[in-house]
Amino acid sequence: MARIDDLKALIKKYDEQYYEWGQSEISDAQYDRLYDEYVALEKEFPEYALMEDSPTRTVGAGKEAGKSTGLEKFRHKSPLLSIDRKAKEISELMDFYIKCGSPQVIVEPKLDGITCNINYENGKFVNAATRGNGYIGDLITDNFKVTQTKYPKELEEGVELEVRGEAIIPFDYFKKHLMEDYSNPRNAVSGIMRQIDAKDVKGKGVQVLFYDVGVSSLPFSNDSEFIDYLKSHDFQSVPVRIADNWEQLKQIVESSLDGYIQQVDGFNVLMDAKKEYPQAVCDGLVIKVNDFGLRNEIGMSIKGPKWAFAYKFKPLQEVTRIEKVIWQTGKSGRITPVAQFKEVSLGGTKITRATLNNIDYMKQMDLQWNDDIVIERSNDVIPRVIEVKKHNEGLDLDGFEESFHQPEYCPVCHEKIKVLYPLLYCVNPACKAQIKGKIVHYASRDALNIVGLGKAIVDVLFEENLLSDLPSIYQLKEYREQLEALPKFGKKKVDNLLNSIENTKNPELWQFIYGLSIPEVGKKTAKDLAQRYHTLDDFMNCTMQELLDMEDIGEIIAQNIVDFVHNPHVLEWIQTLKKRGVKCKDIEIHSEELKGKTFVITGTLEHPRKYYQDIIEKKGGKVSSSVSKKTTAVLIGVDAGSKETKARELVSKGESITLLTSEEEILKYFQM
Ligand SMILES: [Zn+2]
Repeated sequence: MARIDDLKALIKKYDEQYYEWGQSEISDAQYDRLYDEYVALEKEFPEYALMEDSPTRTVGAGKEAGKSTGLEKFRHKSPLLSIDRKAKEISELMDFYIKCGSPQVIVEPKLDGITCNINYENGKFVNAATRGNGYIGDLITDNFKVTQTKYPKELEEGVELEVRGEAIIPFDYFKKHLMEDYSNPRNAVSGIMRQIDAKDVKGKGVQVLFYDVGVSSLPFSNDSEFIDYLKSHDFQSVPVRIADNWEQLKQIVESSLDGYIQQVDGFNVLMDAKKEYPQAVCDGLVIKVNDFGLRNEIGMSIKGPKWAFAYKFKPLQEVTRIEKVIWQTGKSGRITPVAQFKEVSLGGTKITRATLNNIDYMKQMDLQWNDDIVIERSNDVIPRVIEVKKHNEGLDLDGFEESFHQPEYCPVCHEKIKVLYPLLYCVNPACKAQIKGKIVHYASRDALNIVGLGKAIVDVLFEENLLSDLPSIYQLKEYREQLEALPKFGKKKVDNLLNSIENTKNPELWQFIYGLSIPEVGKKTAKDLAQRYHTLDDFMNCTMQELLDMEDIGEIIAQNIVDFVHNPHVLEWIQTLKKRGVKCKDIEIHSEELKGKTFVITGTLEHPRKYYQDIIEKKGGKVSSSVSKKTTAVLIGVDAGSKETKARELVSKGESITLLTSEEEILKYFQM
């Protein structure tokens, strides 16, 4: 019984991780195994299936169901259901096919990206939204428009159409530009598409491939007709095949869609000699009954359509023997256990190391020295240890048992580790493992935007002892000769770098705060902090209580910030940076009229959201994405939804929240 509770908690945790951060500590295959194990146990203990929070009760349970993201919500016209029936073996697939009545089916790649939906009304493109929980997704129209998607802005007059697709980043683009920051294209696209600001989406290689229809005013009688419509109307679609019987279906599946899907560097990639389709990463094939009339006859279950099923590609796996655990400090300060083992070959790459995620994961597996372990790679750069095959007791060798224990000190700087079980952190801002990454981050486009101080250059400057910490950036000008003498540098490049360093000495306050790499302080939090404190000095004097009073800052982030601003290394850096001429622009306050007041904007108002936000912020107020007791007033437009409900609920409980329900009331409130 305990196992089923553990599984439930784990699935919930990974769902949340995935939804909030767009990535998860475990691979998809690992997630699926946990989920399958849970489903099997739930059959044994049916009372679990009745619980409201059962993972099997969330439609399209799993990865994309869940939490708020700060983006506006959108209710889909018809639900985007996920495919519940997933075959891992050909025999299982045959079973599904026969149960459907062996009809004509359409086979398409199962794309490994973020499902989304775009809408046409009166023949015109109107909006785009993510799948979300299948019923309500995030509105991402602005983000969608700046992707490299091929889609028509207009269709025939009067057409109403929901078109479903998958946002992906092509594998060749990922390899070239994103592999340092993400371990697979899906994590990359998920992180990028969740950005609040469309500027952060533009030029990142994202495109949407379309393959499915929702509500439609056009008389499609089957899926092939719809796919033809997509192709003839200049939508980027996917390659499909039709099978009339099991023999044909089997041939298409066994040939990985007639050779369209190939193994490249351990990924399953859509490869098309004619370049009609981008190199999308796929995790299997989707098989759907072609005829729409027949689909209606076959019908749906609570979990999804009964006329569709998937065939999942097998992950690459090998068994080997673990020799040692290496504790690695990453550039964020997180210390991760990595297994070192006898060399194995996975997907054509020879590997000797694989991640163990965290100390708890090792304990769950009961990992011991000299164990035989299973290594897996599935559509991911990082190989993972997924289970212990067997313990090898009685081996009498000199070994590394010690390395299997939780370390107390950072392996790089030897300062004491901070434990947020099961995660371990080195919080020494001067730690050598982190400082290079911190300099690169400080110089990155969204922080100070110092051009020419990327990872490769920082590596070289470290080698040459020309960089040692953040303030040393501003001493580089004293080493002009040494710099010019470095291979591939030269006068022009050095000029550009030194100029850029000088020209970016007056960043916005939020850019500077963001650039400091405070654990878990991203752009949004940095902006909130700048808005709250106005000057760097005030920010450096922030207190725990003040931070906790802010709308979107929880205890962990608040503690991270307080620890950071009190760290002696940090205080020294800030002093030195100031001495060397770095000065943040203070936030311009036009008035303090609304100081300390928080507003929520929801629904469709007369002007765009930004218009009201500017008014509020210029008067010193703050805009938050969620309604709470701390909310001062809510600006309620048409179709406001859950935020309005929440606000009214709080008002009825006696909270003093002002509800502004018309443009007139809003103007009056802000005295305009
Ligand atoms: Zn360290």
